[in-house]
Amino acid sequence: MRELPRRRVLVGLAGVFGLACGLFSAAGTAQAQGSLVLYCSVQEEWCRAMVTAFERETGIKVSMTRKSSGETYAQVKAEAANPRGDIWWGGTGDPHMQAAEEGLTLEYKSPKLAELQDWAVRQWEQSKGRTVGVYSGALGFGYNTNEIKAKGIPEPKCWADLLGAKLKDEVQVADPNSSGTAYTLLATIVQIMGEQKGFDYLKSLHKNVNQYTKSGAAPAKATALGETAVGIAFMHDIVTMVVDGAPVKVVAPCEGTGYEIGSMSIIKGARNLENAQKFYDWALTPAAQALGAQAKSYQVPSNRTATVPPQAPKLADIKLINFDFAKYGSSEERRRLLSKWDNEVKNLP
Ligand code: PLP
Repeated sequence: MRELPRRRVLVGLAGVFGLACGLFSAAGTAQAQGSLVLYCSVQEEWCRAMVTAFERETGIKVSMTRKSSGETYAQVKAEAANPRGDIWWGGTGDPHMQAAEEGLTLEYKSPKLAELQDWAVRQWEQSKGRTVGVYSGALGFGYNTNEIKAKGIPEPKCWADLLGAKLKDEVQVADPNSSGTAYTLLATIVQIMGEQKGFDYLKSLHKNVNQYTKSGAAPAKATALGETAVGIAFMHDIVTMVVDGAPVKVVAPCEGTGYEIGSMSIIKGARNLENAQKFYDWALTPAAQALGAQAKSYQVPSNRTATVPPQAPKLADIKLINFDFAKYGSSEERRRLLSKWDNEVKNLP
C-alpha cells in the first residue's frame, strides 16, 4: 500500500524530467536552427537560389518576400514600429543608404568585410556600417534587333538617341519610386547633364516611353519579347536575355553611364538577429556570391576572391560616371528627386 504512492511519485518525476528534457532539446534545436525573414530585392530566381542554399547549409528556415528596391524600402519604413523582416538583401544601394540614414537598419561589422572590394566597403563606411555592397553593375539599355530593323529605327548608341522621333512609344523603363534601376537612371541623367537639362531630357524621353513598369528588370524582358523596341535596365539584366537567345543588343551609352552597388542591410528590431548576421556573413562568401551567375544574374560580386561571371559586362570597359552614392542615397535628395519626377515627368500627358 505504501509502495504505490512512491512509485507514482517516481513515475511522475521521471515524466516531468522527460518532458523537461524534451522541451530543452526542442528549444535547443530551435535555437540552433530557427528562422529568418528575408526581404529580397533581386530577381525572383536568384532570391530563391539564395534561400535554398542558405536553408541547406544552416537548417535555418527562411521566409522570403521578393519586392523591388524602392518597394522594400517602403515596407521596411512602414513596419518600423513593429518590424517583421530580419534582413534585406539585394537591390540598388540608394534605398539601403536612405534606410541607414533614417535609422531603419542596424550597424554590423562582418568578419568578411576585409575580403570585399573597395566599392563595397565604401558603401559600408558611408552608411556608418549599416549597409554593405554585395554586387555591382552598370546601367544601360538594350534593343531588339528585329524590331529596330522592321521599324527602320537607327541603332541607338547614346542616351540622346533614345529621344528620336522614330522611338515614340518604343522605350520602356521602370518607375523610380518602386525601382532602384529607374532611380539609378534618374540620378545618372542628373549627374551627366545637370538637374535642369537632365529633367528636360527625362520629359522628352517620357514622350517615347510606352510604360513605367514596377520592376527594373521588366523592360529587359519586354525587349526580349519584342513588346518594346528599347528597354532601359541594368546591362547585366539585358545580358540575361541575350544568354537565353533573345535578339537583343546590349548598349553602354556613349555619354557615359551610372552604376549600382547592390546592397544588404540588417533591419532594426530584427527578431532573428543572430540568424540575420549568419545570413549576412554567408552572403559575402565567394560560394554564396557564385549563386548569382547560376541564376543567370551577371553582376560583379563584391568578394574579391569570388569569380566574376564571364558574361558580366566589364566595368573597366564602360565609361562610368563618378556616381555620388552618398548624395543620391541621402534621404533628402532621394525624396526630393522622386517627388520632382512625379510632378514634372510622370504626370505629363
Ligand atoms: N534584380 C537584379 C538582378 C538587379 O541587379 C537589381 C538591381 O539591384 C534589381 C533586381 C533591382 O530591381 P529594381 O529596379 O526592380 O529595384
